[in-house]
Amino acid sequence: MNLNESVAIVKGIGPKTTEIFHKIGIKTVRDLFYYLPRTYENYQENIKIRDIRPGKVVIRGKISDLKTKRAKRRNFTITEGVIRDETDAIAVVWFNQPYRAKQFEEDKEYYFIGNFEFSRGKYQLQSPKAYLAHDIDKTAKNGFRPVYRASGQFKSENFARIFSGLRGEFSKIPNLLPDETIPDFLKITSRNEALFKAHFAENEKEVENSREYLAYEELFELILASNLNRNENSKLKARTIKFDQKNISEFVKKLPFNLTNAQRRATWEILQDLEKPTPMNRLLQGDVGSGKTIVAAISAYQTALSGAQTAILAPTAVLAKQHAEGLSELLEPFGVRIALLTGATKNKSLLKEKLKSGEIDIIVGTHAIITDDTEFKSLSLCVIDEQHRFGVNQRQKLLTKTAGTGFAPHLLSMSATPIPRSLQLTIFGDMSISILDELPKGRKPIKTEIIQEMDSVDILYPKVRETIKVGRQVYWICRSIENESEKKAISVKKMTEKLEKVFPKMRISYLHGRMKNDEKDEIMTRFSEGKIDILVSTTVVEVGVNVPNATLMVIMNAENYGLAQIHQLRGRVGRGNAESECFLMIENETEPSRRLKELEKSTDGFYLAEVDLKMRGPGEIYGSLQHGVLDLNIATLTDTKLISVASKYAKIFAKNSENMVKYPELISCIKKYQQLTTLN
Ligand code: ADP
Ligand code: MG
Repeated sequence: MNLNESVAIVKGIGPKTTEIFHKIGIKTVRDLFYYLPRTYENYQENIKIRDIRPGKVVIRGKISDLKTKRAKRRNFTITEGVIRDETDAIAVVWFNQPYRAKQFEEDKEYYFIGNFEFSRGKYQLQSPKAYLAHDIDKTAKNGFRPVYRASGQFKSENFARIFSGLRGEFSKIPNLLPDETIPDFLKITSRNEALFKAHFAENEKEVENSREYLAYEELFELILASNLNRNENSKLKARTIKFDQKNISEFVKKLPFNLTNAQRRATWEILQDLEKPTPMNRLLQGDVGSGKTIVAAISAYQTALSGAQTAILAPTAVLAKQHAEGLSELLEPFGVRIALLTGATKNKSLLKEKLKSGEIDIIVGTHAIITDDTEFKSLSLCVIDEQHRFGVNQRQKLLTKTAGTGFAPHLLSMSATPIPRSLQLTIFGDMSISILDELPKGRKPIKTEIIQEMDSVDILYPKVRETIKVGRQVYWICRSIENESEKKAISVKKMTEKLEKVFPKMRISYLHGRMKNDEKDEIMTRFSEGKIDILVSTTVVEVGVNVPNATLMVIMNAENYGLAQIHQLRGRVGRGNAESECFLMIENETEPSRRLKELEKSTDGFYLAEVDLKMRGPGEIYGSLQHGVLDLNIATLTDTKLISVASKYAKIFAKNSENMVKYPELISCIKKYQQLTTLN
């Protein structure tokens, strides 16, 4: 069976299944083999009810006394019952699964897997999965079985059946990596065995061994991709931009503040790169508020001094406008010509003419910059702010703006999501990295506090009044615009009405992503001019926006956001010298998650990024943002030993150009990773 062939050739997979598979990214036979279990269920671990402890449990017993109630809230049901074994009995509850009341036969035994937790006044088993014991005893090898991520009607069991049918095929899967690159400390040393054990593991140990092999394979691919990119990029040509010490020092001297040492270092690294005849591929990473913009501004100024153009790409119109204004203020006195290009820009064609004829030195904008009809006279530097917000294709498109000139632009990517070291070495291995690990002087850490909604009146409202009384401003973050999609999250409009009642004298406005660009701009402008006291907003303010006078932020339904996202959001305050505060609001009578507690403890973006990586894996942090390209299966990017060995072997492999023909499967598999950071 050829791994590159369509899954449709697999026995038992008809057109309907093929269609379902396509939707979840399983297109080839290879994709199918690599569709690894999401987790494993271990029925050997089942315990007697007498011995039950809070946490995840597996129990085997009979169920009775089932009944479903409607809750006060509309469309919400609670199904309760009692599970018994020969030792004791416990309560069980399912929310919004009314079918559970009719699912069970009282005289049959079932396995129940779920969390035994305290809620609504007592300990109970919460929404457990349930399986007929007889079925499990028959299908689970040694009481151990894989669980696949289901896709609609296509359940974990259906996947298991398909793999059972393929059992005999595994041994024919050839190795992806050359034998000499497999380290001998791995307990499994061939791909077919690793994949087989992943799907047919009989215990944790086998899962672990298989995972280690597959993680190594994935790391090797990632690191090889970046090695090959580095080689290829070094063959590209870029315009050299000579360092103009006199003018640059002059400019830096006239800034309203002193650069931090980190900013000096990063600027210096960039200016040196620009002098080289090969394109720069540099990532400037610095926590929110570390001052990346000015570093980009100096680089763009240097580029303008040499007579070449810079394009600065921002993820939102609000941010693009703010950058354009900031840069104009800084650079126009030095004769640099700056323009803004967003969807809302009037008279685009005139502006594009000027860009083409070289009458504009720096163009700042959103996606509007990368449309096909935008041409440059001498684009030499591309800056991508908040690079993780852009997809691979958009970046690629910007880089093609110099096609035909024989030169590639220098690329400066900026990110406020600090990238953990392990990711730097793997995913971003072919980029040079500058780090702003120092905040401008005088910044105070943002005080962060988790509160329950019911404490608003006592704790929060007085804080808000105090803040506004001294002339400062407040961000109030809510989840959605309308109240429909997520029932519990309050909408921007509703919150605004509520706050207007609580604070009748204050100036309150709201902002959300579905407003027209000019409306958004107008609100943001008024907020930054201090004409709005409380800005109720969705996460559109998340990226980059800079209003140093805002010192208080409230994030409603904080549990709905990821760690990195809250860190970003929170970074909208604490941008001046004043003490700033952030309240993370959670529902009444709930325990805050570990994620929120970490945010309360630390404002260090690097530390939080490591925590996030460990808790969620890289796929979720970077994956969704990269349009699924970075869909890493085996999240062991924290495994430094595997990384260092894979680096060593990948480097050796990349040096030998014969390998590129000798290992076609490997070379084609890593294309998707190469795209992530390549310059061509
Ligand atoms: P980010 O890295 O999050 O993009 P910005 O570039 O928006 O941060 O900078 C945040 C704020 O800090 C801006 O108001 C900027 O003018 C200011 N700033 C930047 N560098 C310094 C510095 N060295 N000293 C004081 N303030 C600075
Ligand atoms: Mg920024």
